[in-house]
Amino acid sequence: MKICDIFARKKTLSFEIFPPKREEDTFTLIEDTITRLDSYRPDFISVTYGALGNTLTNTAKIAKHIKENTSAEPLAHLTCVASTTGIIDNVCTELKEARVENLLTLRGDMPKDTSVPVLSDFRHASDLARYISWKFNGDFCMAGACYPEKHPEADNMSRDIEYMKMKQDAGMQFFNSQLFFDNEVFYHFLLKARKAGVTVPIIPGIMPVTNYSQLDRMIQVTGCNVPLKLRNYFDRYKDDKAAIEEIGLIFTSYQILDLIANDVDGIHIYSMNKSGFIARLMDNISYVADKFFE
Ligand code: FAD
Repeated sequence: MKICDIFARKKTLSFEIFPPKREEDTFTLIEDTITRLDSYRPDFISVTYGALGNTLTNTAKIAKHIKENTSAEPLAHLTCVASTTGIIDNVCTELKEARVENLLTLRGDMPKDTSVPVLSDFRHASDLARYISWKFNGDFCMAGACYPEKHPEADNMSRDIEYMKMKQDAGMQFFNSQLFFDNEVFYHFLLKARKAGVTVPIIPGIMPVTNYSQLDRMIQVTGCNVPLKLRNYFDRYKDDKAAIEEIGLIFTSYQILDLIANDVDGIHIYSMNKSGFIARLMDNISYVADKFFE
């Protein structure tokens, strides 16, 4: 099923996982993590591409496993930063044969070494979406990435949102947001996107914070703002794993409940393959969440 058809009838719950580097961890992911996540009846599970240097083969393999063994739809991430139309054709054909009908079409991060030219048939995610729309003519429901605190390379928020509208015009049928910790930031972003003519569903991406170094890494990669009360707590208990997990659980639970109360289109949780923590989180919010996602 296409995810855009699910949005027509309900709010969505989704999780994101990444293909592990080592083969034996892939087995654990499939046998344990995905099974546990599936017990929360997510509408879709997205599988990243390229993170930690793994190959698309793993993304396609895991997406196929989700399709065949769970009640969730797989959303396969696909980047185009150093890709050709030939590579994209092969990947899309492989996914289509595995009955994977949903793609998160992305540019991907530019290589850090700027001295090596990047050879690609595509400049931006919108070029990729336009190409797949034309070549595969409606076989896939396509989603795009959006950035409540703007993409780090964008000059300003208005310009970034203009490009978001361009992605919608290129065929993207919903947006998954970058992580953020301040819901007010997301609500302001939503208003601006709607004003600029973005009409498709925009789902907030929530990253449960479970350790201090992870929080620091997220700030560096995304440039996201961390509310002072969360930062102060993390600074005080940075060496106490249990204390950090406790605030992570409470903070993330509240963040999701507040988004639900504000009637967002769905909730996307960056699970980071930590199904144990996700289980505690989902149990914490089960009363309100069950009603919202039913
Ligand atoms: P684009 O939409 O191309 O935007 C990139 C920059 O160019 C932005 O600054 C934008 O304002 C600007 N821009 C956009 N269109 C135009 C245009 N037509 N003309 C001029 N400028 C333009 N990365 C991975 O490698 N693998 C993953 O699996 C992955 N999953 C992700 C999932 C989510 C939900 C998110 C939010 C990000 C993910 N990323 C992933 C990271 C993503 O690849 C990077 O953020 C990347 O730098 C930008 O990708 P994009 O698709 O947003 O690019």
